[in-house]
Order: sequence, then structure tokens, then C-alpha cells
Amino acid sequence: MAMNRIQFQAGLSLPAFLAQFGTDEQCADALEVSRWPQGFCCPGCGNANYYLLKAGKHKNFQCKYCRLQTSLIAGTLFQSTHLALSIWFLAIYLISQAKTGLSALDLKRQLGVSYPTVWLIQQKLMQAMIERDAQYTLRGVVQADDA
Ligand SMILES: [Zn+2]
Repeated sequence: MAMNRIQFQAGLSLPAFLAQFGTDEQCADALEVSRWPQGFCCPGCGNANYYLLKAGKHKNFQCKYCRLQTSLIAGTLFQSTHLALSIWFLAIYLISQAKTGLSALDLKRQLGVSYPTVWLIQQKLMQAMIERDAQYTLRGVVQADDA
């Protein structure tokens, strides 16, 4: 059941996936839209007016009203990893498209990352499947794909 939520559009080909989610910018945009479909809204006070802070790898929104800073990836399963969003998206795509499961070795080869990174990805995704907030994020990613 939870597994369904981390699938991209059924039958999405690899070239089509890469065309939509091949770069970090595309993944960041998709994540932003999935988190805030109506545009950014401060999680502290609900204000929609913000400054965009360019510091760091990911977008940071600073609320104009209460000054709270919110990172694009804060509160998502992508938080506190140094992995590029495009690698995360590709991992989710590969795992969700694999009909008979994907071994750590397969994933390592296809993503071009180290074993510790693969284990981190698998652990985070397993965790995500049992955490509502993360499921929401993943479902949001899927919805962004349909838009
Ligand atoms: Zn605020």
C-alpha cells in the first residue's frame, strides 16, 4: 500500500523520467511544487511573503513576517543528506519501477554511488514508507509528475 505512493507515473520510461527529473533544478522545482502547491507558505506563521536566501545548496525561504528560515528539504526525507536531489529521485524511480525489487548492488551500479550511500538511501526510503510526512512528500513528488 505505502509502496504505491513512491511510484512515479506507471510505465514512465527512463528517457521521459530523465527529461522531467534529470537535473537537481528540476527535482528541486518538483519538490517545491509538491510541498507548496499554492506557493511557499511559512510553516511558522502561515505568511506567504518571503525572501529567497541563496546561501547553501538548496533554496532557503525566509518569512518576511516572522523571519523563520525554511529550507526546501527541511522536514522531507531528503533532509540531512548530502546526496543530490537528482540522485534521490532516480533512486526512487528505479526502486519504484523494479518489479521484482532491486538489490543494493544493482542500485549501487545504476546510481554510481558507494555502498554506504545505497544503504542510506534504502534506510531512508524504508523509514519514509512508515512515516506519514515522508509519504506525503513522496506522494507529492508523484503528483508533481502528473502536472
Ligand atoms: Zn513566518
